[in-house]
Amino acid sequence: MERQMICIMCPMGCNLTVKEQDGQITVTGNGCNRGVVFAKEEISCPKRIVTTSVKTKNGVKSVKTTASIPKSLIFDCVKEIEKLRLKDAKFGQIIIKNVLNTGADVVVTANE
Ligand code: SF4
Repeated sequence: MERQMICIMCPMGCNLTVKEQDGQITVTGNGCNRGVVFAKEEISCPKRIVTTSVKTKNGVKSVKTTASIPKSLIFDCVKEIEKLRLKDAKFGQIIIKNVLNTGADVVVTANE
């Protein structure tokens, strides 16, 4: 089986060709080894950083996860964040520690 994908690990956006044969995965088109790691993870357990916003008493503030989490947990993660309504939230503040046991925290990414 052969798949095409774009590496999102840096702005170069290399076009990767990923071949799976007899349990072996080969990656070509990568500009560096991070592309190989990305492609293998994308096939076995794709992950993404989650960016969204949290409600505060004065509006909303942007937040993100401190690490990539499995794509299958993104909507559950957003639901956890939607449950919150913070009095105040400062830049860098952790608002959820170890969200959904992923090892990633959710932190505030804006002051205003
Ligand atoms: S393979 Fe390397 S150079 Fe290419 S986009 Fe991924 S991280 Fe960047």
